[in-house]
Amino acid sequence: MLPPAVLARIAEEVSGPGPSLFEVSHRSGRFDAVAERSEALLRTMLGIPDGYAVLFLQGGATAQFAAVPLNLVPPGGGGDHLVTGSWSRRAFEEAGRFAVARVAADTGPEHRAIPDAWDADPAAGYLAYAVNETIHGVAFPATPATTAGVPLVADASSMILSRPLDIAAHGVVYAGAQKNLGVAGLTVVVVRRDLLARSGRVIPAVLDWAAMAASSSRLNTPPTVAWWIALLVLEWVVEQGGAAEMVRRAERRQALLYAAIDASQFYANPVVESARSWTTIPFTLADPAREQAFLEAAAAEGLVGLRGHRSVGGMRACLYNAMPDAGVTALVEFLAEFERAGA
Ligand SMILES: *Cc1c(COP(=O)(O)O)cnc(C)c1O
Repeated sequence: MLPPAVLARIAEEVSGPGPSLFEVSHRSGRFDAVAERSEALLRTMLGIPDGYAVLFLQGGATAQFAAVPLNLVPPGGGGDHLVTGSWSRRAFEEAGRFAVARVAADTGPEHRAIPDAWDADPAAGYLAYAVNETIHGVAFPATPATTAGVPLVADASSMILSRPLDIAAHGVVYAGAQKNLGVAGLTVVVVRRDLLARSGRVIPAVLDWAAMAASSSRLNTPPTVAWWIALLVLEWVVEQGGAAEMVRRAERRQALLYAAIDASQFYANPVVESARSWTTIPFTLADPAREQAFLEAAAAEGLVGLRGHRSVGGMRACLYNAMPDAGVTALVEFLAEFERAGA
C-alpha cells in the first residue's frame, strides 16, 4: 500500500495545470531534481557510504537475479546462494543460466529457519541471499558472514527501510520498489564501486551496473513515474520521522501480530522465532477447511490481501512501511473475533 498522503499528491499532480510529472522528459531539469533528491534521501536513510553507486533500474528484482552473475562473475566463474525460500531459490535458478551457481545452504522444502552455517566457496564471485523471504516469512536477523573478498549480495525487496540493514557489509543490495518504496517498475540497486565492471563480460546495457552508474541510471528512459513516486514515499518517510521511525513502527506491528498468533490455539506461524519476518507474516488456521470463510469474513471487514502465496497456501499479512498500526490492530481484533465465532 501507499501512504494516503502520497496518493493525494499523485492525484494532485494528475489534476494540476501541467505538464505533469507523467509527461516531462527524463532529461528535463524537473526530472533531474527528482533523481538527485531521491538518491540523496535514500543515501541518508539507508546509510549508504560514498563508495557505493545508487542505481534506479527497471526489470524488477528478477532482472537483478541475472544482473548479479553477469556483473560479478567472470566467464566460467560461479557464485554461492543461500536458499531460504522461494525468492532466493528463483535467484539461484536464474543465476545458473549465466554462471556456475551453487547452493551453499538450503533450508527447504519447508523454509522455516535461516541456516546457522553453510558450505561457502572461498573463490565464489559472490554470496547471495534474500534478507526477508516474502512468501515464507523468514528473515535473517543479522547480516550473514562472508569469506573475505567474496561480496555479499542481498535481495532486500520486502524489508528495505523497515528493518536495519548494514549496507557497508554488502557488495550489492537491491530491492524492487513495489513493496516498501512505492509502485512496480522501479528497482533500486546499491553497488560498491569497486564491483562495477568486475566481470569483464558482455552484459545487456540495461543490466550493466557500470554503464548505468556512468549514465546516472539514464542510459535509456527510466521508469520516471515509479521513480518519482519513490521520491514521494521517501519524503513521506522524512515527514514521519525518518528511517528509524519506520523501523520502530515495523517492530511494533510485527510484535502485535505475532503476540496474537502465539496466544491462540487456532492460528499458528510455522517459522522459528529468531528467523521471523517483520514485514511478511504467514499464518495458518488450525482448521484449514475454514480458510475461505476466513478470507471472506476478513474482506467484509475491509481486511484484504490476506491470502497466502499460491505456492504455500494459508494466510499472509504484509506489513510494509505504509501500513498503519490501526491496520494491524484491526487484523488482531478480527483474528480473535473469527476464532470466537468458530468455537
Ligand atoms: C517480490 C520479490 C521479488 C520479485 O520482484 P519482481 O519485481 O517481481 O521481479 C524478488 N525478491 C523478493 C524478496 C521479493 O519479495
